[in-house]
Amino acid sequence: MAVPKRRQSKGRSRRRRSHDFLTPLQLASCPQCSTPVPTHVVCPTCGYYQGRTLVADEKDAD
Ligand SMILES: [Zn+2]
Repeated sequence: MAVPKRRQSKGRSRRRRSHDFLTPLQLASCPQCSTPVPTHVVCPTCGYYQGRTLVADEKDAD
């Protein structure tokens, strides 16, 4: 089996891993119920998005 000739330096590994991070979620508050909601996502609390309620309350559906 092929095996690396040299151990990779710490600097080389760290340089590669410098891009291995997650960006934190962009949170905006819902204009209707002011819950923090990720941008471009329907509000999970009241179903509000783009100026109208898209998802009805689960209590009403039953
Ligand atoms: Zn909401």
